[in-house]
Amino acid sequence: MNQTATTQRQNKEYSATNQAPPETTQPWMADGLCRDHAPGMFFPSDGVGVDKARRICGECPVKEQCREYALTYRIEHGVWGGTSERERRRILRDRRLAAT
Ligand code: SF4
Repeated sequence: MNQTATTQRQNKEYSATNQAPPETTQPWMADGLCRDHAPGMFFPSDGVGVDKARRICGECPVKEQCREYALTYRIEHGVWGGTSERERRRILRDRRLAAT
């Protein structure tokens, strides 16, 4: 993910969640395939858009780091690491349950 795309995504994300941003860039973001796509593509408004973003993420060499970043910072909106908002909520819930 290039610096501009990263910043645009994060600005959109944090303005949506009203949370303080974590570190704005991570080394792995430079290798994200989304660097060649409009940031809005990763904030789809429907399932078709989610599937399009997921397909790109599926080929991305940093999808694991991206998904964990979104999970760590509780990023609610957008497709990160090939996961939708709903999927990340499910992963977090499953992890909480597994920890109890
Ligand atoms: S996994 Fe998807 S959102 Fe994350 S860096 Fe790769 S292409 Fe971008």
